[in-house]
Amino acid sequence: MKDVIIIGGGPAGMAAALNLRRSGKSVLILEKENFGGQIANSPRVENLPSIKEINGADFSTAFFDQISELGAEFELEEVLSIKKDKDIFKVKTNYNEYESRSVIIATGVKHRKFNIPNEDELGGKGVSYCAVCDGAFYTGEDVCLVGDANTALQYTLLLSGYCKHVYLYTLFDKFFADYVLVERIKEKQNVIVKHNLSLKEIVGKDKLEKLVFTDTKTKKDEELVVKGLFIAIGQVPCNDIFKDYVDLNKGFIKVNERMETKTPGLYAIGDCTDKNMRQVSTAVNDGAIAAFFCNSYLK
Ligand SMILES: Cc1cc2nc3c(=O)[nH]c(=O)nc-3n(C[C@H](O)[C@H](O)[C@H](O)COP(=O)(O)OP(=O)(O)OC[C@H]3O[C@@H](n4cnc5c(N)ncnc54)[C@H](O)[C@@H]3O)c2cc1C
Repeated sequence: MKDVIIIGGGPAGMAAALNLRRSGKSVLILEKENFGGQIANSPRVENLPSIKEINGADFSTAFFDQISELGAEFELEEVLSIKKDKDIFKVKTNYNEYESRSVIIATGVKHRKFNIPNEDELGGKGVSYCAVCDGAFYTGEDVCLVGDANTALQYTLLLSGYCKHVYLYTLFDKFFADYVLVERIKEKQNVIVKHNLSLKEIVGKDKLEKLVFTDTKTKKDEELVVKGLFIAIGQVPCNDIFKDYVDLNKGFIKVNERMETKTPGLYAIGDCTDKNMRQVSTAVNDGAIAAFFCNSYLK
């Protein structure tokens, strides 16, 4: 029996663990993929207090080491369901069932997909959602990046260092990214920006052969022959498994200012919650707040 089980080992979950361990609570973090969450895939993080610039993977490793030293426990398992029986939570994973007095949901978000033919079939064969993970495979090649916000521009900047040309295509007529990133893109000679293009087809059998886009203004199709397609068109929540215990808004978990859900002892933090600003500092902020009120609840 743990005091707290935290579902998700991204910045929010790790921040909650940090604060709860400092209050002497027993903590188990269940993470299905990699500790660090999304930020582990960021090539360059520049908006953390007192750290001018850090690679996302280094940030995640340092955070993980910090909470490991404080005695947080971890398992690499996917949570499939939670159940509350009287005052005890039962958390079922793909391998085990655990019990705790409280639960903090910190499941973040996952990549949004186009859901068009060949998107899944050519995954790892030309189609990718992570330039940090796969970018180097396309050294010297032409690639296309579809997306218009911070992640898309960060990935484009990274890819411009490896690839011959990066075609940065957006659906609308502008970017929705930080000013500094847009300015850096303008300086890159090998980045070709085109707006108002909607991805229509991913063509290829065992590898990506070409892409077909529709110009949303002229309605004409245009083809692009590239070796790699990187998709960065936003994120979607993954909270359906909690729907009996929380209120959802478009899939995001509703919480109050104490990070409480509608179920006593059940908290939600970070990108999985219904909020406007999703970044590391707000995720870490949520984790600290949930830890504080969860600690009071446990008392
Ligand atoms: C490429 C990229 C660059 C970014 N750059 C920046 C930046 O420079 N600055 C910034 O502030 N923010 C940046 N962000 C955003 C930032 O990474 C997120 O806001 C932050 O990671 C949110 O933290 P989180 O812990 O709420 O969620 P996440 O980081 O999404 O972590 C959630 C974790 O929960 C796990 N999980 C989900 N479901 C389950 C389950 N059922 N069982 C077990 N585990 C589960 C996931 O595997 C994941 O590890 C970037 C994001 C991306 C993708």
